[in-house]
Amino acid sequence: MPSRQPLGRQYSIHPTKSRPTYRHARQAWSTAGIGTDSARRRAARPKDLSSRDAASTITDAGLLQLDDPDLPDGWQMFPDMTVPEYRRYAALRVEALNHALRGIPPERVRLHVCWGSGHGPHRDDIPLRDIVDLVLAVPAGCYSIEAANPRHEHEWTLWQDVRLPEGASLMPGVVGHATDVIEHPELVAQRLLRFAKLVGAENLIAGTDCGLGNRVGHPEIVWAKLEDLSEGARIASRALSRHSR
Ligand SMILES: [Zn+2]
Repeated sequence: MPSRQPLGRQYSIHPTKSRPTYRHARQAWSTAGIGTDSARRRAARPKDLSSRDAASTITDAGLLQLDDPDLPDGWQMFPDMTVPEYRRYAALRVEALNHALRGIPPERVRLHVCWGSGHGPHRDDIPLRDIVDLVLAVPAGCYSIEAANPRHEHEWTLWQDVRLPEGASLMPGVVGHATDVIEHPELVAQRLLRFAKLVGAENLIAGTDCGLGNRVGHPEIVWAKLEDLSEGARIASRALSRHSR
């Protein structure tokens, strides 16, 4: 079987920023001994409970957001892995994460996953369908998942047959970091309404695909995206309240 050759590994879109390419990242992992199964198992095992204590301190004060772009994006590091092999690799990490989360109320935890925020082709991103059960196996009250860019927007249909854990919310990205084009509030509302039909409006929060920051070029663009996200949520909320009357 030919190995996958992700386009993203072949070049860096921003070579002048000395951003590591996937190839370099993989070499770094290999150097760190994460390339073998036993080393991966050692690396994934929580070394002590200090991080869990820190997490408890945070959740006592509010909400703990776990950013785990590597859950989908680790796929790029191992182009020779099959989907079942990658699922075993990812499941071990979910197991370690869940170990660290023991005793922390899920409603105080939000899990963010995306396919990496780097601008690139993303043609070889692993489909959400192949890992969604692993994502939802993390005991979180809210799942923030990239859903607004052209490579992943179609995956909203997945929620026709995937159920959120009891009491959990979905926070799909409805504006994104992949482009500086500012999403129209009507588009934001349309995206939210189709999710609302599938997971229930009471379980839905409008989110961003990932951190926006300087990925969209200028702080004013970030604020404009967030303004239109808010306006789109208001439009969707009005439409939903009209329907419920
Ligand atoms: Zn992200």
